[in-house]
Amino acid sequence: MDHLSVRKNLLGHVRRVVVKLGSSVVTTENGLDRKMIRNLADDIHEMRKTGKEFIIVSSGAIAAGVRRLGLKEGARTIPQKQAAASIGQSRLMSAYDEAFGRYGIRVGQLLLTRDDLTHRQRYLNARNTLMTLLSWGVVPIINENDTVVVEEIKLGDNDNLSALVAVLASADLLITLTDIEGLMDCDPRVNSDACLIPVVENITPELKSLAGGTSSGVGRGGMSSKIEAASKAQMSGVPMIITKGKVEGAIAKTLSGEVCGTLIMPAKEKISARKSWIRYNLRPEGALRVDSGAAKALTHGGKSLLPIGIIDVEGSFDDGAAVDVIDQNDDKIAVGLVNYSSEEMKRIVGRQTAEIDWVLGYRRYDEAIHADNLVVL
Ligand code: GLU
Repeated sequence: MDHLSVRKNLLGHVRRVVVKLGSSVVTTENGLDRKMIRNLADDIHEMRKTGKEFIIVSSGAIAAGVRRLGLKEGARTIPQKQAAASIGQSRLMSAYDEAFGRYGIRVGQLLLTRDDLTHRQRYLNARNTLMTLLSWGVVPIINENDTVVVEEIKLGDNDNLSALVAVLASADLLITLTDIEGLMDCDPRVNSDACLIPVVENITPELKSLAGGTSSGVGRGGMSSKIEAASKAQMSGVPMIITKGKVEGAIAKTLSGEVCGTLIMPAKEKISARKSWIRYNLRPEGALRVDSGAAKALTHGGKSLLPIGIIDVEGSFDDGAAVDVIDQNDDKIAVGLVNYSSEEMKRIVGRQTAEIDWVLGYRRYDEAIHADNLVVL
């Protein structure tokens, strides 16, 4: 099938869409781009008539706050960014509220942090809120809660947030609206012959190296963070389109299958939503080094990790924590949730399952990491 038919075929089945807007799309040098936000609302209003549902992930809080305050040098320190976001976020929401309100469509705000997406119960709570909003016909508008996060605990950029939201919401498509056409085969800033890559099947190292740094200077994400987000979406089975945002009818054109932007195809063998959460939302708190037999059983046999296959335990973690699994070549081969804490694990490494009882005095589980909680990389 040629890439146009592939695109049309895939888009024919799309119902729930996450649309991500970068700061460079929702703002101009004078502040919020209300005209653009109205165009987006026009577009989404039309598309909703065809039964589609939309969730928006919008950047722009910091940029809008900075412009409102007239800070010539921008927000430099973290407290300044946080304070600018608190001013800009309410303005951002009022712009969306006004734009969608023209059609009687309500909007709802969700401000998330990494912790919300790491903590399983909070993650599910956020999902329940989203689902309820959608069932009421409301358009959820999501941003990172910039006022309370500092660099070390930040999700980083809204590209990554939008991919995690797409998985959280079981979306059929993620559309990333940005300030360039899509992924190009060379750097368009230095090469005027740069051509759009219409479809990406696999995110190769070459593709990653094609994606340079930030394209616009406003907002945090550049092409490389879009590729990182695309790989999360791809592995979790969500197709993604990266396209230019400041185009009238950008959403309708994208959904009609016209070639605008780059379509990143979902993986043929996707991982479940729960495994996607383990792999992409959690931060490993330690590592287990395993022998070659265990490495093979995990990567080729889809087996659980037993204490007998573990050689060494690194870091300090509680049971239930996420850890990396590392083979004897020092390669990270999996990530998973442990059934025992690091202290317990150190006592049972290399032991037969039956020995766990007498070493610890109890045996909560046979496995160090159960296959259901293990994601092979
Ligand atoms: N959350 C930030 C904001 O609203 C933007 C982060 C990003 O650009 O990715 O300003």
